[in-house]
Amino acid sequence: MTVPSKESEADTISVAIVGAAGRMGRMLVHAVHAEADMSVSAAVEREGDPLVGVDAGTAAGIGEIGVTIGSSLERALAVSDACIDFTLPEPTVDHAGMCRAQRRAMVIGTTGLSRDQLAVVKEAASDIAIVHAPNMSVGVNLCFKLLDVAARALGDSVDIEIIEAHHRNKVDAPSGTAVRMGEILAGALDRNLADCAVYGREGHTGVRDRKTIGFETIRAGDIVSEHTVMFAGDGERIELTHRGTSRANFAAGAVRAVRWAVSQPSGLYDMQDIIGLR
Ligand code: NAD
Repeated sequence: MTVPSKESEADTISVAIVGAAGRMGRMLVHAVHAEADMSVSAAVEREGDPLVGVDAGTAAGIGEIGVTIGSSLERALAVSDACIDFTLPEPTVDHAGMCRAQRRAMVIGTTGLSRDQLAVVKEAASDIAIVHAPNMSVGVNLCFKLLDVAARALGDSVDIEIIEAHHRNKVDAPSGTAVRMGEILAGALDRNLADCAVYGREGHTGVRDRKTIGFETIRAGDIVSEHTVMFAGDGERIELTHRGTSRANFAAGAVRAVRWAVSQPSGLYDMQDIIGLR
């Protein structure tokens, strides 16, 4: 059980932001600071980052909030109920150990953890509440559930295509979110995604096999994030679309997750738990 015993104002959830100078970290400083029932109790960066020593609000572009960016999560946790970590896999795993040692809840947004690193996070979650979700958007996580419901209802009566679009700087394809959507659809339809996925099409492709799941990728301009799943049958078509218009949607999900996590028993959770869709 996570024990919030730090020296903070009663009824206010004090949150340490880890990776506070990063794109998501700055967004999170802004988002947590804006919540009436939360405060940014500490902000942490890697040692040597040029923004260590700078006010976290100034770094986030919202003006001074009286919290200087430091480089010790251990010190930060002493004055915090929980931390939100959007950094890199290796530090995230170390941070999970520190949260465990001090019995603080943790929200992990960092992506790309290896199987071994995930195992360490899971082990830490035997003593504290940890929420880990590679996509913290509440909307995307709701879509995951809706896709499962739709696929089970429609079965093999439709062709399924996943179309995703992101900005020109995204270097991987399809997006992790599109792949997760494919996994959910394949799972609901008792298919193996590795066997049924078709990535892009060109030339003489032959007639479409209904049991495939198609992925189409668009990389263009400054598109933040768009995912459409098309269920196309005979005489009708359903399209479920999520459009992310700014990174604020991830920060909003992380804020919701940390509020939820501080009152949970130890365990490893994801956004489906937070939005009550488990
Ligand atoms: P970023 O590079 O802008 O920020 C990461 C920050 O972490 C940097 O400022 C870096 O200095 C800091 N950092 C590195 N090592 C550290 C350490 N030991 N201690 C403290 N800080 C440290 O990256 P970003 O775009 O903010 O993304 C960060 C992570 O979050 C990535 O893994 C990304 O894929 C993920 N992400 C997840 C979601 C989600 O919804 N779960 C959304 C967006 C990004």
